[in-house]
Amino acid sequence: MYPLMFKPILKERIWGGRKLEEKYGRQLPEGKIGESWDIACHPNGTSIVDNGIYKGKSLSELIEERGKDILGKIVEEDFSKFPLLIKILDASDVLSVQVHPDDEYAAANENGELGKTEMWYILDAEPGAIIYYGVKPGISREEFREAIEKGQLESYLGRMEVKKGDVIYIPAGMVHAIGAGIMICEIQQNSDTTYRVFDWNRKGADGNPRELHIEKALDVIDFEGKHSREKVKGLAVQEQGGERTIYVACRYFVMEKLDIAGEMKECADGDKFFTLTIAEGSGEIRYDGGVQAFSAGDSLLIPASLGSYSIAGDCTVIKAYVPDRQKDIVDYLEAKGFTREQMNAIAGLFED
Ligand code: ZN
Repeated sequence: MYPLMFKPILKERIWGGRKLEEKYGRQLPEGKIGESWDIACHPNGTSIVDNGIYKGKSLSELIEERGKDILGKIVEEDFSKFPLLIKILDASDVLSVQVHPDDEYAAANENGELGKTEMWYILDAEPGAIIYYGVKPGISREEFREAIEKGQLESYLGRMEVKKGDVIYIPAGMVHAIGAGIMICEIQQNSDTTYRVFDWNRKGADGNPRELHIEKALDVIDFEGKHSREKVKGLAVQEQGGERTIYVACRYFVMEKLDIAGEMKECADGDKFFTLTIAEGSGEIRYDGGVQAFSAGDSLLIPASLGSYSIAGDCTVIKAYVPDRQKDIVDYLEAKGFTREQMNAIAGLFED
């Protein structure tokens, strides 16, 4: 196997823009391109390999043929479901206010779809750009419903100014909206289940308001503030070749940012796969059997069976994977001398 690269799947959205072209030199069709699904294996979009001997094959075909070599141990749990979805979003206008269900609610109400926990890494933000994040403390379900009905939801939502490099964790139940002038790398559970709560009283591409899903949204929104409503601080570990900052380690995925100046050693030992998205800079993956160059905006899938490899260059890389056990991360950080309290800077690590 080798590091796999894919053709991005581009999606036109009413809130989209042209930044993928400006920032990464991507060739875009006409229109407002809001989403680029860069590693995807979902009925609404499946990635096609764009490099090496598997060029032209879809990720789902490849998983059927070489499942364990690509996914590792996960295939024993469920062969058919690739667990993650990696996207880049370009919001030139504000997105609808939305929320996602958890696995349990989605299984019961969405024909066995998965729920969705997601996270955002801010790739770029115009000065003063904001996101909406969580319900303000003390707001009840009924007050929230009334505000939706009156079309005046904004003052009931938490808001936060964001800048490049910020990390936002969005567990299922956290109401959210990306504001205008923001580019995001989004890592999420492989699900497309979204309950739209409020669309700023605007009309969709066909001239009609887009559908809202208010009752389901009210069922799943966290009004109690179970989760922190702040940006994720992350925990940085110095390593040869650069710095590794662990931001999220929930049971669905781990997200680390690798700031590399030189060469950082990594390993895919057969158990699990990794995704890499290049936020800044350029470089190459060196592995037994070859070299794969990359530049900003690219995403790569490191197959579980790749073995030892390294990431070389001057670059910032967003790495994601599905952990075997969250405890492995706690053990790794304890061995590095970190306390449990310091580990609270990582989102989702001590959630069940
Ligand atoms: Zn979302």
